[in-house]
Amino acid sequence: MKQIILKLNELRKGKNTFHVSSTAGELDLEDIDYPIVGNIDTHIEIYRNRNNYEIKLRTRFVFRLTCSRCLTEFEKQFEDLGAFYLKKGEVPDIPEGMIKDEYIETLYVSGDEYDLAPIIREQVLLSIPMKPLCSDSCTVPEYDSGIDEVDSRWADLIKLKEKLM
Ligand SMILES: [Zn+2]
Repeated sequence: MKQIILKLNELRKGKNTFHVSSTAGELDLEDIDYPIVGNIDTHIEIYRNRNNYEIKLRTRFVFRLTCSRCLTEFEKQFEDLGAFYLKKGEVPDIPEGMIKDEYIETLYVSGDEYDLAPIIREQVLLSIPMKPLCSDSCTVPEYDSGIDEVDSRWADLIKLKEKLM
């Protein structure tokens, strides 16, 4: 997997913005449930305050999905917003139970470099829909299941099925 390295020392005070484009292959995302069409584009915003960094990632990409109802293939754009704090230094030794419920996660980094690639990969993985639908109104093509009109050749099978149920 390629690395998307943040060089923490080179970031200026205040706001820094970057744009990074990755392929599915570069982020090791070729063998997931649905193929990715085109590139994975990430807009990165970093606010630096001394050795604290607030990082915001907006990752956009297109999945080629298969509708779970009608099996039509369709493409859909996804956008995932992620944010976390990065601090230089060791993870503080906070006794269990003392950790505050922060709405934003804090990660710790010991060196001057931080690789964003695993985080962007995770953004894509977490966006994989469980039951994609080609449209909100998609319905399974209707077929007549009226049991009265069933071909008599199926009758025995249907009786058997009813027994089993
Ligand atoms: Zn559908």
